[in-house]
Amino acid sequence: MRDRGREEPLPPERLAGFSTRAIHEGDLAQSGIAEQPVAPPVWLTADYVYESLEHYTDVINERRPGFVYGRYGNPTHVALHNVLASLDAAEAAWSFASGMAAVHTAITTFAEKGDHVLAQQTLYGGTYGFLTKMAPRYGIEASFVEAEVDALASAIRPTTRLVVIEPLANPTFAVADVKGIAAVCAERGVPLLVDNTVATPYLLRPLELEGVSLVLHSTTKYIGGHSSLIGGSVAGNRAVIERIRHAAIEQGTTAGAFEAWLALMGVQTLGLRVERQCDNALTIARFLHDQPNVVDVGYSGLPEHRHHERARALFTGGRFGPMLSFTLAGGYEAAERMCDSLRLVRVGSSFGSLHSMVAQPATTSHRQFSKEDRAAAGITDGLIRFAVGGEDPDDLVADLAHALEKV
Ligand code: PLP
Repeated sequence: MRDRGREEPLPPERLAGFSTRAIHEGDLAQSGIAEQPVAPPVWLTADYVYESLEHYTDVINERRPGFVYGRYGNPTHVALHNVLASLDAAEAAWSFASGMAAVHTAITTFAEKGDHVLAQQTLYGGTYGFLTKMAPRYGIEASFVEAEVDALASAIRPTTRLVVIEPLANPTFAVADVKGIAAVCAERGVPLLVDNTVATPYLLRPLELEGVSLVLHSTTKYIGGHSSLIGGSVAGNRAVIERIRHAAIEQGTTAGAFEAWLALMGVQTLGLRVERQCDNALTIARFLHDQPNVVDVGYSGLPEHRHHERARALFTGGRFGPMLSFTLAGGYEAAERMCDSLRLVRVGSSFGSLHSMVAQPATTSHRQFSKEDRAAAGITDGLIRFAVGGEDPDDLVADLAHALEKV
């Protein structure tokens, strides 16, 4: 009789394209059923039972593979980690209860009492807050520097155990010299952590550069993609992720199973969404560039932007990111009037979903910055952060045009 069975599935290394991997790397075969689910089940169990005490002791002591307890990871986490590692060009990944949980565990894995962490001066306010308020309680000192090679190289100290950068700096979206900084870190033997939340693995895979040790995401944003979860992730080589995994288990920072599942669902459309959002962002940046009351547009896709050539060389697919900033001539009053005059785009606390959102970072996401550090980071009162969604571009431009008339 003819064998009517199907061909064997492709092995993971044969899944080449970005979206193919985003969709299929999370497929996990379910044992015991012939019909396999398209959406993998969410494993909402805190703990497991074993065939014997020996079975349990073997698993918990890592003498045999298996599952122990929710904080140690479950099959839903495994599926998510497979996708994230693949998209980030990493050997392994781990997921966290939030982006800040990932920041906390990553920094305290590399640095301890007496150590120094060097971070980019324009970066997410929560990371700045952790480095200036929490890290000193662990005896870790932080300092901040421009994300340019010369400035960074001269700020590395003998005690520097980690450098932290954001390729597309939240909230100005200046483009860091990622390649140059990675080369400096490789030469000086200092691990480099790249927070790739805004650029996403669709535009940039920092681990392909020598000198990058760890990539971090707030999966709350583009990985999840629908404002439906809070989560974080890191990816790197197997040895680094083993250290991170142990720290996450000790600190209790591992992602919840349901949030891991939501991230797993969301990441399947990462390429589709980010492509559309980048195209929308470029349309909006061009429109804003021509407006008389806009004094500056922070979008490296514009040929006039100071980092245009750097961004072209760094990001894949000829795209420049799903977020932009712009500065109004009239300072805070103008920013407030602008935000409140938008009718489709809403004032919002986060970014990364298909809903367009604006915010004035100086008084919100970056309120933790001291006045001096805010000025050094280029976060002025008239600066507006625009997280571009997936709406139709004409509707977004019409909304902006209406609001700018009111300013
Ligand atoms: N990193 C960046 C660049 C962020 O923008 C954020 C949050 O806005 C975080 C990390 C922290 O992530 P979460 O809010 O998921 O804790």
